[in-house]
Amino acid sequence: MRTTRVWRRVLGVEHTVIESVELETDQRGQELLVARVRVKTGAARRCSRCRRRCPGYDTSREPRRWRGLDLGTTQVYLQATTSRVSCREHGVVVAAVPWARPGSRFTAAFEDTAAWLVCHATLSVVAMLLRVAWRSVADIITRVVADRAGRIDRLAGLRRIGIDEISYRKGQRYLLCAVDHDTGRLVWAAKGRNATTLRGLFDLLGEQRCAQLTHVSSDGAQWIHDVVAERAPQAVLCLDAFHVVAWATEALDQVRRDMVNRLRAGGHHDEATTLKGSRWALLKNPPNLTGDQRTTLAGIAKANGGLYRAYLLKEQLRAIFHAVELADSRALLGGWIAWARRCRLEPFVKLAKTIKRYQALILNAVEHGLSNARSEATNTHLRLLTRRAYGYHSPEALIAMADLTRGGLCPPLPGRS
Ligand SMILES: [Zn+2]
Repeated sequence: MRTTRVWRRVLGVEHTVIESVELETDQRGQELLVARVRVKTGAARRCSRCRRRCPGYDTSREPRRWRGLDLGTTQVYLQATTSRVSCREHGVVVAAVPWARPGSRFTAAFEDTAAWLVCHATLSVVAMLLRVAWRSVADIITRVVADRAGRIDRLAGLRRIGIDEISYRKGQRYLLCAVDHDTGRLVWAAKGRNATTLRGLFDLLGEQRCAQLTHVSSDGAQWIHDVVAERAPQAVLCLDAFHVVAWATEALDQVRRDMVNRLRAGGHHDEATTLKGSRWALLKNPPNLTGDQRTTLAGIAKANGGLYRAYLLKEQLRAIFHAVELADSRALLGGWIAWARRCRLEPFVKLAKTIKRYQALILNAVEHGLSNARSEATNTHLRLLTRRAYGYHSPEALIAMADLTRGGLCPPLPGRS
C-alpha cells in the first residue's frame, strides 16, 4: 500500500489527494498533525449547495484548515486552499470539499462523531473529549441536523400526533412541537405559539397527509383546537394525560403553599417548615416514594386532613388514565369532578371547572390510548433541554438539539457499518 493511500484511510477522506503530512507545534506548545490536501480533479469545482460541476470563479490565497478526528492523542487538521465556483442556479458560492460540510471548520467525520456523542453523553463530556467549546458543538449540531433532515421525510405516514408548547428563556419564548404518538419521535418544531405557527405544520403536511391524521392531542389551548378543526377536521381531539396530571400537581402544590403561609402567619414556624419539607413526598408518584417520604405522607394524613385530601385528589386524577375499561375511566372522572367541586380546597374547586370543560377530550385520550409513555418521555426530554444552562444562542440551536436527540436524526458513527 502506498503511503498516501494509508493516510487517506487513516484520515478517513475520499476523493482527496494528500500532498504532505507533517507535525507542527502550535502557540501552546501542542503538537498537531497537519495534512496538506486537495480535492481530486473529478470531485473539484462543484457547487457546495447543489453539487453540480460549475466553472471556477477564484481561489483563495490563504489556505484554510479543518479540524479532523484526533489520531491517538494528537489533534489533526486538514489544510487546503479553497475556491469559489460560479453556479448557474446559486451564483458565486464556495466550492464543495469532499471532507467537510459547507461553512464548517470541522471535517464531516468530526461533526458526525460530535453529534453522535451528544445523543449518548453529557455535553460537558463531549466538549472535554473533543476539545471544543459548547458554542462550536451547537453549531455542529445545527449543520448535521440540517444535512440529515434534508434527506429524510419526517412527516411521512403520520397518523396520531401530539402538539405542545414548550417555553424557554425562563418562560419568555415558546417553541411549538409535534410528536408522533406511535414512535415517540419529535417530527416538527418551530418558534412561536399561535395559530400562524401551527398552520406552518399543516402547510408542510399538505392536504393529503392532513386528511390521514386520525388523532391530535394537545393541552387545552383553544387556538390549537381551532386550527386542527380547520385543517384536519376528521381528527379526534384529545387532551394529553401529562397536562392533566401537571394541572393537578400544580393545584396540590398551591394547597400546600397556602397552608405553609397560613401556619407562618399564625406563628407556627416549626409546623410551617415541616410542611415545606413535604413537597417531594406529595408530588412524587407513590411507587417512587422513599421510606422517609412514606412516613411524611402518613403524618400528613393524620395531622393535616386538607392537604391529604388534596394529595388523594391528585392521585385519583392520575388513576383515571390507567383504568383498563373506558367505562371505569368515565365513572372515575365523573366522581372526581363531583368530589373536587365540594372539597373546599380552592385550587381544586377551580381545577374541577377546567376538567369538566375538557371531560370529553380527556376521555378521548383514554379511549384511543393516547396517554402513552413514549410521547410523554419525549415531552419530558424537551422540557429538560430548555432548562439546561447551556445558553442556547438561538431557538434554531435548541430546535436542532431537540431534532438530533428526539427526532431520529442522530448520525451513525463514521467508518462503521
Ligand atoms: Zn448550485
